Amino acid sequence: MDDIQVFTPKGKGIILPKGATALDFAYKIHSKVGRHAVYARVNGRLMSVKTVLNCGDCVEIDTDENSRPGADWIDYVRTKSAKRHLRSYIQSVLNNEYKRCPLCQPLPGDKVIGFKADDGTITLHKHNCSTAMASPQGEYMSDIEFYVDDHFLYRVRVRVVRRVEHYDYRTDEFELGNLIIEKLMLWRSNRTGAGVTTYIIHRPTSHIVEYISDFDVHSVNEVDSIIKSISAIEGVDKVHRVDVEQQVICTTMKNLAESDINRFIEAQEVPYFCGYKQALKEVKNGRKINHWIWYIFPQLRCLGRSSRAHYYGIADRNEAQRYLEHPILGKRIREITEALLEHKDKTALSIFGGIDAIKVRSCMTMFDFLSPDDIFGEVLNSFYKGERCKITLKVMLQE
Ligand SMILES: [Zn+2]
Repeated sequence: MDDIQVFTPKGKGIILPKGATALDFAYKIHSKVGRHAVYARVNGRLMSVKTVLNCGDCVEIDTDENSRPGADWIDYVRTKSAKRHLRSYIQSVLNNEYKRCPLCQPLPGDKVIGFKADDGTITLHKHNCSTAMASPQGEYMSDIEFYVDDHFLYRVRVRVVRRVEHYDYRTDEFELGNLIIEKLMLWRSNRTGAGVTTYIIHRPTSHIVEYISDFDVHSVNEVDSIIKSISAIEGVDKVHRVDVEQQVICTTMKNLAESDINRFIEAQEVPYFCGYKQALKEVKNGRKINHWIWYIFPQLRCLGRSSRAHYYGIADRNEAQRYLEHPILGKRIREITEALLEHKDKTALSIFGGIDAIKVRSCMTMFDFLSPDDIFGEVLNSFYKGERCKITLKVMLQE
């Protein structure tokens, strides 16, 4: 006796409790119709979805895929199913503001589970998060939908792997590295606010070049589409999303590498055109041709803009000191600097080119600061009119 019957435009009868609204009707048809409802046509007239229906009404719901439930809709529904859907939606919106597990970092579109702590905060995990499984904390919640929300971006990391016999700057960094960055930039151009960072790491011992890209996405679908487009680049062997559990390992390896002075030895030992032997030969000839500046004349990391400049950047005064005192690196930097001093008749610009001439000055400023009686000051006097790199001096003085 408390029910009413209304009809779809095709004449199908729908039973609803008395006082039900067009929203109840929409959710009864399908949860998607409810979620994306914009307005109702009741007996052919355009009405709000909050309109209370009467017995015998013919109801049609207009939807828009971009439309989302209003915050107050829960107050305008009578049916249990509509209430349940709206509660779950509200929860999912809250989830976006709630905690994501810092280790598995779920994305909208991933299958997720949640744990509700005593204080009410919910932490979302990927359904197979090993940490969550090992030490579940709080009340388990299985039926959570992690909806895509256009207002939320999530940082993800993708690792691209290329197998190489020998690292070749031109192919591995310049061509392939740029192609990857281009794909990401193109993708980003359609998404305001999304950031992109790419690092290139060469692991000579394992014969791989890695491209680690961090960027922002709305959902797991977006990550998948990027992975697909990067996989299509010729020369790419493997692309995959990196979980933070793995990221921690990557970061540790990277930090280790960056603080390990042997990264310079590794780079200088590269055969063909980029190693120390070749660099010395080119400096002796009075003209740099190949790309080796970062690890032959290193400068402070804070001055670098590219991933290589960062990787081969000298972290601080201590590392610069260790470089100078290193039996091989210390000997080589002095040997190649001496070779440079044979060309006092030339300009740094003609030997190194504009950008690298500036890097050499920063390098010489750094080493001259630590070892003023060495030969580095002579390069500054002969090629740079005694002018030092101001930023290098400032950093060296600060420490
Ligand atoms: Zn987790």
